[in-house]
Amino acid sequence: MATSLERALSLIADVPDYPKPGILFKDITPLLADGEGFSIVIDELARKISAITPKVEAIVGIESRGFILGGALAKALGIGFITVRKPGKLPRDVHRKDYQLEYGFDALEMHKDLIDPTSNVVIVDDVLATGGTALACHELVEYTGAKTLAHIFLLEITFLQGRTLINKTHPEVEIISLLRT
Ligand code: AMP
Repeated sequence: MATSLERALSLIADVPDYPKPGILFKDITPLLADGEGFSIVIDELARKISAITPKVEAIVGIESRGFILGGALAKALGIGFITVRKPGKLPRDVHRKDYQLEYGFDALEMHKDLIDPTSNVVIVDDVLATGGTALACHELVEYTGAKTLAHIFLLEITFLQGRTLINKTHPEVEIISLLRT
């Protein structure tokens, strides 16, 4: 019989050819809409973050699904939430990191003054695909002087080898995902 965590993760829907032909989109909205499922995955991720040493002092969440998971995790753990957004959305002084996508470029920004430079953080997003987004966010955190202890995802698409990309430059960082497909 499936455990309640397995049931929760089975709510993630596969959407073929979205947003482009050939992409299998992992849609977490049915999981978020299920009160018990959402609660179980947040509890499980919070348990994994609590087991990290040294202690995690802030959650860094990547726009936009990383906000939903990261906000709930920060509340569950009683620690702060740091917002990382697409360019032009944050109103004060930012650090910016440009990075390459499969086709083209993107960038992430974070307010300069939010992270204590001596702190230990984890970075949260819903899906690890090629790893480019997570790596860019890692570098943004590095600009502040803070240390990323772990990257946390609900789901990892293994054939895209995001884990390998992150570990190439940051072999010490932990990469945690609840489901690998
Ligand atoms: P990447 O930089 O390739 O690791 O892509 C990660 C970002 O794109 C995350 O913010 C994901 O939410 C999103 N993403 C990439 N591929 C998928 C996918 N197949 N299904 C859902 N989200 C994806």
